[in-house]
Amino acid sequence: MPATRDYYEVLGVSKDASGAEIKKAYRKQAMKFHPDQNPDDPKAEEKFKELGEAYEVLGDEDKRAAYDRYGHAAFKAGGMGGGGGGGGGFGGFHDPMDIFSQVFGGAFGGGFEDFFGGGGRGRRETSGKKRGSDLRYDLEVTLEEAAHGAEKELEIEKHAACKTCKASGSKSGTGTKTCTTCGGQGAVMRQAGIFVQQSPCPECRGSGHIISDPCGDCGGQGRVQKADRIRIKIPAGVGDGVRLRSSGNGDAGLRGGPAGDLYVFLHVKPHDVFERRGEDLFCEVPVSFSTATLGGELSVPTLEGKASIKVPAGTQGGTVFRLRNRGVQDLSSGRKGDLHVELQVEVPTRLDIAQKEKLKAFAESIGEENSPLHGGFLEKAKRFFNL
Ligand SMILES: [Zn+2]
Ligand SMILES: [Zn+2]
Repeated sequence: MPATRDYYEVLGVSKDASGAEIKKAYRKQAMKFHPDQNPDDPKAEEKFKELGEAYEVLGDEDKRAAYDRYGHAAFKAGGMGGGGGGGGGFGGFHDPMDIFSQVFGGAFGGGFEDFFGGGGRGRRETSGKKRGSDLRYDLEVTLEEAAHGAEKELEIEKHAACKTCKASGSKSGTGTKTCTTCGGQGAVMRQAGIFVQQSPCPECRGSGHIISDPCGDCGGQGRVQKADRIRIKIPAGVGDGVRLRSSGNGDAGLRGGPAGDLYVFLHVKPHDVFERRGEDLFCEVPVSFSTATLGGELSVPTLEGKASIKVPAGTQGGTVFRLRNRGVQDLSSGRKGDLHVELQVEVPTRLDIAQKEKLKAFAESIGEENSPLHGGFLEKAKRFFNL
């Protein structure tokens, strides 16, 4: 198998092309290389397939984002870590005719999936089965859940296999027979100028199959819309924007076809105390002027609870203490990051008269010069003013 070409290159668009530009580029090229226009040219068919594959990814916002991030690996089996495993990724069920009908789908008033049931001409399965759609679920998690891992139950609306007919779509369970009007093609093709006009077969509504005794519960679809509860495991160390695949938990297939996958996109909520950068955590902790001056113990927060640090005498504001292995663990290596605690020295407010007097006396006794930063600052200021 030849190496897969860059999808942007295939469509001849730049990486920052808009969705409309991508659609336009695909439409133009797909018309040129459509097998009906090039009946004796196997190269055109190859090219047409390649275009379909590229458009399937770049024409879909989520898939395009995944492609930009992970390249072709995003669409290979097992390409992404996380839930499930197995399954064919996005790539396995690819069918150029689906894309084609989607692009030209306006005339069919949407719902191209049902119209084109079993996929394109020549690739039709005899059973009228079709793989279910992949579903997306956006899930908000806390930083603690992302760091330590969690188990979540999701409630999703989806197509589930019809129990009444055991997903066959037919009451007696005999399933489908080939539509005689279109000979199982699902579509009727007509030449109109240079265009090939395709419309779904009116008899079988594009599926290529007829069910003589459709199941009453699912109307012959073999699946019904219903709410489903799905448990997913969030591995420790996931970050914002990570996508987990729950294999087989997408829409049930049409008439017993394989189910799609469920993709869970994680969004990590901002935390009140910690900021995460990679595997490291950062936080700011106030320390009193006297503790910073005299030194002492300071209680600081970590994701796993409180910890204590020793503040040496004469610690300046902005000093960062690094607590090893108190960050977040890396998703793949399991290595743990560090926690960086930045001290903020607090200037006391609301002093009473006696306290103010004592502080004045203290200031007089210490003098302006006895402060570690002051000397260096004076030197720089002198140079700056050419004194
Ligand atoms: Zn049914
Ligand atoms: Zn038909």
